[in-house]
Amino acid sequence: MKIAILSRNRRLYSTRRLVEAARARGHAPQVIDVLRCYMNIEPLKPEIHFRGKRLKAFDAVVPRIGASVTFYGTAVVRQFEMMGVYCVNGSVAITRARDKLRALQLLARRGIGLPTTGFAHSPDDTADLIRLVGNAPMVIKLVEGTQGQGMVLAETNEAAASVIDAFRGLDAYFLAQAFVKEAEGSDIRCFVVGNQVVAAMQRTARPGEFRSNLHRGGSAVAVKITAEERRTAIRASRIMGLQVAGVDILRAKQGPAVMEVNASPGLEGIESATGVDIASHIITHLETEVMSGRQRDQGG
Ligand code: ADP
Ligand code: MG
Repeated sequence: MKIAILSRNRRLYSTRRLVEAARARGHAPQVIDVLRCYMNIEPLKPEIHFRGKRLKAFDAVVPRIGASVTFYGTAVVRQFEMMGVYCVNGSVAITRARDKLRALQLLARRGIGLPTTGFAHSPDDTADLIRLVGNAPMVIKLVEGTQGQGMVLAETNEAAASVIDAFRGLDAYFLAQAFVKEAEGSDIRCFVVGNQVVAAMQRTARPGEFRSNLHRGGSAVAVKITAEERRTAIRASRIMGLQVAGVDILRAKQGPAVMEVNASPGLEGIESATGVDIASHIITHLETEVMSGRQRDQGG
């Protein structure tokens, strides 16, 4: 198959691994920087151009869309969809997952466990918003933050109120979320491919830090997850409409609490923590899907 890997940088670990795994299985991968794509939007004749040439037919696309290029990146994915190319994660699914508020609303509707979360733009009554979430300690996060950026742990209601005021001043959308203390700075990243959790790791924040993201210095080990956690991760990805997803789960008193579903989860941390060849799982999944002629989420 001709496989397009949409990535800004061919030297990134995840990109290299996908190229390697595709080649090892006899495919022809090409790394395409979405920001260098340009497109025509003509009735019935969608095309994508890249570096002065029209892109030839691909059989499948693996989008790896970084947070900073969501808008244009999903437009390029959508253009592939318009051309009838199979995209393992569709543009609509990526957009759903990237917006933490939209994602949590969709998950809540289907009964997925979440930390108690409030959402506001410019609340007149900050104290009531804080009460709604169950008082401090609470985490206040920007709706489009990633890699642990754009969030604060407020230990007291006063601290929470001043962070909320600051975010309000920035005119930013944010979530206020109950802090799941009993998770003790750890969370579980489940890597889902198709209908399977192919690997899971427990990430633990470094001392003095509550965010377990590896980009924030967290450490990772392979972990055995419970049947309930497995079910939750698979359902959460399915609700987002993602075939490849990294589902972040806190072990809360009342059971698994999903914080977010990542549409372009990194491979490096989890492959090295678990020894699982995730890149090959993704490529074999592509083969099955393309072979069965499946098309999802046609970019509507
Ligand atoms: P990001 O997109 O930046 O990764 P997350 O919502 O996944 O945002 O949060 C980053 C990390 O912060 C999580 O992996 C977790 O360790 C910690 N964290 C986030 N929200 C909570 C919470 N409500 N309770 C406890 N820890 C949290
Ligand atoms: Mg996360």
